[in-house]
Amino acid sequence: MRQLEYLIIGAGFGGLGMAIRLRQNQHQDFEIWEKAADLGGCWRDNIYPGAACDVPSHLYSFSFAPKKNWSHKFAPQAEILDYMKECAERYQLSPHIKFNREITEARFDEDSRRWQVTSVSNDCLSVRYLISATGQLNRPAMPNLPGLNDFKGERFHSAQWREDVDLKDKKVIVIGTGASAIQFVPEIAKQAKSLSLFQRSAPYVITKPDRRYSKLEHWLLQRVPGIYTLSRLKTYIQYESRFLGFRSFKQVMRLMTLSWRRFMHGAVKDESLRQALTPNYPMGCKRILIANNYYPSFERFDIQLNTRGIEKISPSGVIDNTGVSHEADVLIFGTGFKASELLSPMRIIGRNGLELNEAWKHGAEAFLGITVTQFPNFFMLYGPNTNLGHNSIIYMLESQINYTLKAIAYCQQHQRSLLDVLPHAQQHFNNKVQQAIKSTVWSEGCSSWYQDAEGKHTINWPGFTFRYRHLTRQFNAKHYLLES
Ligand code: NAP
Repeated sequence: MRQLEYLIIGAGFGGLGMAIRLRQNQHQDFEIWEKAADLGGCWRDNIYPGAACDVPSHLYSFSFAPKKNWSHKFAPQAEILDYMKECAERYQLSPHIKFNREITEARFDEDSRRWQVTSVSNDCLSVRYLISATGQLNRPAMPNLPGLNDFKGERFHSAQWREDVDLKDKKVIVIGTGASAIQFVPEIAKQAKSLSLFQRSAPYVITKPDRRYSKLEHWLLQRVPGIYTLSRLKTYIQYESRFLGFRSFKQVMRLMTLSWRRFMHGAVKDESLRQALTPNYPMGCKRILIANNYYPSFERFDIQLNTRGIEKISPSGVIDNTGVSHEADVLIFGTGFKASELLSPMRIIGRNGLELNEAWKHGAEAFLGITVTQFPNFFMLYGPNTNLGHNSIIYMLESQINYTLKAIAYCQQHQRSLLDVLPHAQQHFNNKVQQAIKSTVWSEGCSSWYQDAEGKHTINWPGFTFRYRHLTRQFNAKHYLLES
């Protein structure tokens, strides 16, 4: 079997970042196996109209690969994807990336102390270190609605956008009002003959302080040392301070709620529509969304907001819970992702034949969200409890990448071939995480993709990101079983 030192799973932000940092640390003996035919992860998949990032691009980019000419403060999807491709080119990653290599199984072999990895097309590889960078939002969640297969028109999920389906003059029904839907609804409303939007719970949508960068700003960013760094720092502090509202200072969230209410009331004149667009849970419990064009589009394009729930799908549309039929040529699902099924459907098999799914049967957990006991030499980027509701995920990924590099460097310096996190280190860390989550707004009685099927919060990091950076800044051998 072919042997390598490192295998990275996935060529999204995490995988590319890990690969760049491996190269910068003089490691060449690695590959990235990517299940799709191109790199980019969620920025390759989510091509729906209006797709853009809700974190400013100066911060939503690698600190070690700055781009100083973003067109907008919040870059659109195509520009982010281009940036990722530029990074791959700039750091000569192409020879390392193997496309159309979906991994089915990774099994730890006790004798060789290596991971044996197999792909769908039966490619096999033996690696010392396995690093997953599969993201949390890559498996579309389709609701299990009765009659779905009987629908005669076109239907698709927002993350599998059908560019071949022309929405012009079509009757369109959208199901879901999350972060994706609020971006594409105002765009497709411009083309569709009619648009009906099925909302199960209303989101909080606040203003998006987006704008184009001027030529002067581009010049300053590129020529004056420190300006770009200052911009990153300013954005970081601004976004990080929002966490105060999620955890300790309820007044911060109250102020944000007041500002949301003013914005919504200014944009929507109809009182009953305003009521329907008002969430019934505290702000922050689900992801806070940003868009300037979502609320105004209801009156501008006469979007029908339906809050009666869905009884079933009929061959010609949707039957709501009051028995009323809504006709559609096209059904679009903005129904989110199977976020808590981390790493599925891959089978990751650790020591003594233990499957990761089995180890996680009471909810996914890992030490620092990175290593799992009984799964030696295995590191996760964007693992359990490392998602954010308030800041850039790239900052978290960089913390995880640095930690992984330090762990590997430790093993190499001390001639250790196996590293396995100690059960009590993992348990202690996760007890603290779950304790901290209890005092966040996420525990205030709404259901969201932040929880798994049993209601356990396995997705979010319940602290400041600088705290996470501090915890991951050094590899501490006392947390691990290390064998030569
Ligand atoms: P989402 O936020 O999970 O929203 C899914 C929507 O579908 C919710 O409104 C949900 O209602 C609804 N829904 C789910 N199942 C349903 C059913 N059976 N019947 C009716 N409605 C149903 O998904 P998303 O909009 O794709 O966004 C997912 C995440 O992707 C975001 O939270 C964000 O982290 C990321 N994202 C980021 C950006 C960005 O700008 N960076 C853009 C898009 C997405 P309930 O609320 O009632 O469950």
